[in-house]
Amino acid sequence: MRSLTGLRVLVTGGAGFLGSHLCERLIAQGHDVLCVDNFYTGNKANVQHLMGNPRFELMRHDVTFPLYVEVDRIYNLACPASPVHYQFDPVQTTKTSVHGAINMLGLAKRVKARILQASTSEVYGDPHVHPQTEDYWGHVNPIGIRSCYDEGKRCAETLFFDYHRQHQLDIKVARIFNTYGPRMHPNDGRVVSNFVVQALRGEDLTIYGDGSQTRSFCFVDDLVDGLMRLMESRDGFTGPVNLGNPGEFTIRELAEKVIEMVGGSAKLVFQPLPSDDPTQRQPDISVANAELGWSPNISLAQGLKPTIEYFDRLLKAADTEQT
Ligand code: NAD
Ligand code: UDP
Repeated sequence: MRSLTGLRVLVTGGAGFLGSHLCERLIAQGHDVLCVDNFYTGNKANVQHLMGNPRFELMRHDVTFPLYVEVDRIYNLACPASPVHYQFDPVQTTKTSVHGAINMLGLAKRVKARILQASTSEVYGDPHVHPQTEDYWGHVNPIGIRSCYDEGKRCAETLFFDYHRQHQLDIKVARIFNTYGPRMHPNDGRVVSNFVVQALRGEDLTIYGDGSQTRSFCFVDDLVDGLMRLMESRDGFTGPVNLGNPGEFTIRELAEKVIEMVGGSAKLVFQPLPSDDPTQRQPDISVANAELGWSPNISLAQGLKPTIEYFDRLLKAADTEQT
């Protein structure tokens, strides 16, 4: 991995959960960061602490419209990531992935910037290959309620590789598996934020289905490290590359772990499983290991601790505001 400083870096979706951590780390490495966001699911509070920094700039902009800026690197993260949010306005979700990719690829082509796409394990759908390797083409429903996200992201990958083949663009594609940590949106419906918030409020934890479906949870610091290594990986390495923590847990195990760590008397309640909910998911990270020298260091228990502390502070601050 090259170690460069002083680059002009564009982060789309930079005011979101992953984007805000990425902006922070890029600035700490000495880069100038332009954070572009339409605040659909992200918010200014996530980057408030960076506002006074001369290396940081925030621009309200929707990536479905063209953007004219001069940059050396583009991290394309703009897209709602939680099922509740991406299903709220599915047409806009597909537009964000597809038109957003076209606009950001067009920008990269004009200014000859290297561009990284935040793709997703959802490109594998409900996988028949386990753990998932990058050469698996996936098992995706093209017309279901998750399709706006899954197919949008698949089409974005297609665009990235066509721009690479047709216009020799310098691309990097990361397939990100479930990631969690501080600054997740408390109401975004994702399982880690839901369970932690429910346990802290002493509410029952809502398990969809029987809780036997699995996910692999990566802490945000590990993930951001992987993204940055990928961006500066050797010339000619495009990915796609899986980034995630291979530790696989059933959703029931996650719920029990959260209750154990938060304490209190919360119980499990079972609700219907949403359609097309993948039954299992675990990344094979041998490519990331070989090409980027990357593997995650933070276990689920280690990562849940600061996540629980974050939501605890957030809920207490909200309670204080109300009184
Ligand atoms: P997030 O919802 O917190 O962040 C997405 C950001 O993109 C938000 O700040 C939102 O306001 C912004 N955005 C949405 N539409 C936009 C548009 N049209 N123009 C400009 N900005 C727009 O989600 P996140 O978890 O930080 O995810 C970031 C990226 O990583 C997404 O592309 C997501 O698909 C991908 N990803 C995340 C995970 C995960 O587990 N967190 C897993 C796989 C892939
Ligand atoms: N899930 C759950 N209870 C919740 C939220 C989610 O049981 O309150 C389940 C959901 O059905 C899925 C898993 O947890 O099987 C992960 O859901 P999430 O929305 O976090 O991510 P994704 O399904 O996109 O991997």
